[in-house]
Amino acid sequence: MNYSPILAAGLLVFVAVSSTSFAAEKPFSIAIHGGAGTISKASLTESQQKAYRAKLQEAIDAGYKVLANGGDSLDAVQVSINVLENSPLFNAGLGAVYTYDGAHEMDSSIMDGKTMNAGAVAGVRHIKNPIDLAKAVMEKSPHVMLSGQGAEEFALTQGYQLVPANHFDTESRYQQLQNAKEKINKAESNPEYQASTGHNYKQSALDYMELDYKFGTVGAVALDQQGNLAAGTSTGGMTAKRFGRIGDSPVIGAGTYAENGVCAVSATGHGEFFIRYHVAGDICAKVKYQKKSIIQAADEVINQRLITAGGSGGVIAIDHRGNIATPFNTEGMYRATRKSGEEAQVMIWRDK
Ligand code: ASP
Repeated sequence: MNYSPILAAGLLVFVAVSSTSFAAEKPFSIAIHGGAGTISKASLTESQQKAYRAKLQEAIDAGYKVLANGGDSLDAVQVSINVLENSPLFNAGLGAVYTYDGAHEMDSSIMDGKTMNAGAVAGVRHIKNPIDLAKAVMEKSPHVMLSGQGAEEFALTQGYQLVPANHFDTESRYQQLQNAKEKINKAESNPEYQASTGHNYKQSALDYMELDYKFGTVGAVALDQQGNLAAGTSTGGMTAKRFGRIGDSPVIGAGTYAENGVCAVSATGHGEFFIRYHVAGDICAKVKYQKKSIIQAADEVINQRLITAGGSGGVIAIDHRGNIATPFNTEGMYRATRKSGEEAQVMIWRDK
């Protein structure tokens, strides 16, 4: 009897079954944010909501596509962030906020959980997509973080074109600056404020005044089919910040962190708190050493530790299995998530 057809058929079934389970064992997922803050339902018109949701959908789908095609989590993070940086809706790239002095100074970082390499730029003024330059610092320089003029000169050596500073001027951000300045000036002339600080130094008023920022930073975290985690963050910082101020977004362990087998995090919020509380690193440490789930670890840091400290904001976090957490302690956080084989979830508030 000739067994070969039976054997061949058996082999085919085996290959089919094993490749199915192989695929099923390789989950991938991605999460993005477009900033947290006082995003009240009343403050967004129906058409603004639609515009935000459409851009978030476009960004998550761009990253998802890279992952679905077997691409790297680093590339997925970069392409998703590029979509958000190129939109005036978010406080990164094109929509970057103004400093008190009326300039735009952007910060960004990216981390590769596979190699523990990282790259960051701080205070750049002429870089269209700061996340690209952060990646170039990681891949093409011996350093982790470059700032200001040095970062821009490095960009030129890498073939980047600098864009004029007014590339980032938008009317809505300009109005936000005027509103913030009004509040700062009010706080400055408030005797209670003066007594509490002992001086009337304008920029300290940022900490004093009622926080009503829409932070608007953008970020992405991803797990690819090879099991590699990556995270990236890009921002214009905080409206009316003092020139030269650097927030948490380019600080590895504060605004961005990724480590294979553990987790990847990108943050948005009041950067001074995120730096001091080492937010992204703290979440991953809870996962790594305390064996907490990503949901619990991220929730403890954002909704317990930071709240007690008075720091507002949120994170997107992902673990090595592709589980995603998106806690925030503000009214809303622009965000989207998408897991392998599933549709994207695009959300602004707690419930939708
Ligand atoms: N974390 C950013 C910063 O402090 C602001 C934000 O998330 O929008 O620079």
